[in-house]
Amino acid sequence: MTTSGDTQVSLYAWRRSFRNALSAVGEGPLAVLFPPRCLLCERPTSRLNVLCDECITNLPHLKGPRCSKCQEPLSDPTLDLCRACGTRERYFDRAISLGPYDGAWGKLVRSLKFDKEPAMARFLSARMADFLHAEDPFGNIDVITFVPMTRRALHARGFNQASLLAHGLARRIHRPVARLLRKVRETSPQARLSARERGKNLRGVFHSIRSVSGKVLLVDDIFTTGSTVEECAHVLKNGSCEEVFVLSVARA
Ligand SMILES: [Zn+2]
Ligand SMILES: [Zn+2]
Repeated sequence: MTTSGDTQVSLYAWRRSFRNALSAVGEGPLAVLFPPRCLLCERPTSRLNVLCDECITNLPHLKGPRCSKCQEPLSDPTLDLCRACGTRERYFDRAISLGPYDGAWGKLVRSLKFDKEPAMARFLSARMADFLHAEDPFGNIDVITFVPMTRRALHARGFNQASLLAHGLARRIHRPVARLLRKVRETSPQARLSARERGKNLRGVFHSIRSVSGKVLLVDDIFTTGSTVEECAHVLKNGSCEEVFVLSVARA
């Protein structure tokens, strides 16, 4: 007997093998007939890149005066911290995104989740590694981890995009990666909730799998309100972790 869960998994497996076959086209002799194209401008690109060189160079940065801890835009450029970071303690020490979610970065993140995850995960983790090499905003990291999904959500999607990014980054910067957290229940999308509701929505949702000491880099795809990574950092710091830095692809 086939349950709906099995159907979902086999459909996913089929989709995945079809997609892998398609991506093999991009690296085999058929690439001559079907040259890979830049995801943003659709010009032909090198077979290993999802974007052309020009679009990579033009990927936007976050602009204007921003909070030195969470990158929230500052209305008063003479200040160093936003209201949230200035008035209460944050569990994470610093959170940085590669760029704004509006536009190119958002398109890349959506593509990672819904379209071509292996190539996009390679591409985005390479951008994260380049950024860390160029800016070194966090210093030496002891271990890299990622924002977890519930078992159910992981089963439905087949992969955790934050985990793909963390593993790709770890390979590139030669740091260990570890699954330190698990998510025990589904939550409502944080962006639709008030600050008070967000806290309630996330309370107790992340559990520690194992505790590590030193500096942890927590990886996610999108930074929206910061309350998800805040809650993850809270759990990590309840263990023996001393500092938690957050790196995400895009800031909404
Ligand atoms: Zn392009
Ligand atoms: Zn802030």
